Amino acid sequence: MWIGFAAGILIIALGIAFENENIIESFMIVGGIIFFAAFIQTFIFYTCPYCGYSLMNVRGGIPEHCPKCGKQLKDG
Ligand SMILES: [Zn+2]
Repeated sequence: MWIGFAAGILIIALGIAFENENIIESFMIVGGIIFFAAFIQTFIFYTCPYCGYSLMNVRGGIPEHCPKCGKQLKDG
């Protein structure tokens, strides 16, 4: 899911590298959309599928069990 963030930043950086106002603007929009989409995707995936508890504030990625309802989040 970090690929989306990287792609968004890369496209924005690429637009700036062209040093053309119109190109920068269009690249910023495309990059912004990708960045926003990645953010939404991260936000959706970082919630417990059982109770909807946000796992964004849990350090070290997705925990094995939901800290709120205790259901298993990872397979195996
Ligand atoms: Zn839960």
